[in-house]
Amino acid sequence: MPTIVVLGAGVSGLTCALQLAKRKEHAVTVVAKHMPGDYDIEYTSPWAGANVLPMALEETSRWERRSWPELRRLAIEVPESGIHLQKARVLRRIKDEEAAFKGSLSDGLFVVDPWYKTMMDDFRELDTSELPAGIRSGCEFGSVCINTAVYLPWLVGQCAARGVVFKRAALKHVSEAAALSHTGRRADVVVNASGLQACRLGGVMDATVQPARGQTVLVRNEASPHMMVLSGCDDGDDEMAYTMARGVGGGTILGGTYQKGNWDPNPDPSIAVRIMKRAVDLHPALTGGRGIEALDIIRHGVGLRPLRAAGVRLESERIDGTCVVHNYGHAGWGYQGSYGCAEGVLELIDEELAKPKSKL
Ligand code: FAD
Repeated sequence: MPTIVVLGAGVSGLTCALQLAKRKEHAVTVVAKHMPGDYDIEYTSPWAGANVLPMALEETSRWERRSWPELRRLAIEVPESGIHLQKARVLRRIKDEEAAFKGSLSDGLFVVDPWYKTMMDDFRELDTSELPAGIRSGCEFGSVCINTAVYLPWLVGQCAARGVVFKRAALKHVSEAAALSHTGRRADVVVNASGLQACRLGGVMDATVQPARGQTVLVRNEASPHMMVLSGCDDGDDEMAYTMARGVGGGTILGGTYQKGNWDPNPDPSIAVRIMKRAVDLHPALTGGRGIEALDIIRHGVGLRPLRAAGVRLESERIDGTCVVHNYGHAGWGYQGSYGCAEGVLELIDEELAKPKSKL
């Protein structure tokens, strides 16, 4: 039975481990410094909203396209996963001309007539009578919101039930992972799902990976029936306005920021006030018109999205004699691309395992 070690227990590593374990053909070990249940600035996944708002341009949409059916299925058939269906409204401001969306943090999301209109449920352009002041156009579609505090442990449980073994370890070099399989055998393949830490991990040291800092406020107030996102805001290019209601009692996430190169792990109080003001403007029903003073705060959060200059790294490489399949650099779409990327990882593993041993 081929031996696989997955380095990383964020959404990327756990989804790969689960998809491998479902095949019942591999001995899978997950090795990670941080695991679900931890909240640490080196560990991005627990800090995400998270929802599905397609961000890729059509030519790079494979990862999101291939993830959506499974995330939607989980929302409909597996409520204990912490994923639930929620309508999303994407609002394009008059000030944000379409050309400006290209190359921006959300790339394809705000494009008029987007590729994802045939993928998401019940996609429709909003009627002008439904648009708030200052909004040129917008669309609505059926999406999902993921309660990450429930979903990540659920992934661990699904893996464990299929025989995946978990180990805690902080590695200095990616090749150390090859010796950590629970089988005692050397790994045939190591999956590198180290997220932002790929810029510091020996053997990888990817200098093109940097944080895109996301600050959020989690509140008890309810923002139904829609998740909302605005194409821009007046508080700067690295700030955003979005709301999403997490299922199974997860509260409502108010966002946010997208601050490239910023490693600050501490919530900035001024930014927090701006986030709350924008959220209440966007979604007055949050506080019944009573302003931000009526927000009931659970927690302020900061997570660092793993932003890679050339986009996600999904490729294999031989490092110190071991095949390493890289899967890192998902920026702000790690959940909504998780199953598609895991599929890509499995293809690369199959290619490696199909090689005659003498050529390895
Ligand atoms: P991580 O979650 O960081 O996991 C990395 C793992 O590798 C950890 O277990 C870590 O301990 C381990 N590791 C790293 N280095 C080592 C080492 N040397 N030794 C041992 N272990 C190591 N995405 C969406 O799809 N939708 C959203 O709505 C969304 N919203 C977001 C909002 C915010 C505020 C933020 C911050 C992110 C958001 N994202 C969203 C993005 C998403 O969270 C990330 O893309 C995703 O979590 C990255 O996951 P990962 O598994 O690659 O990395």
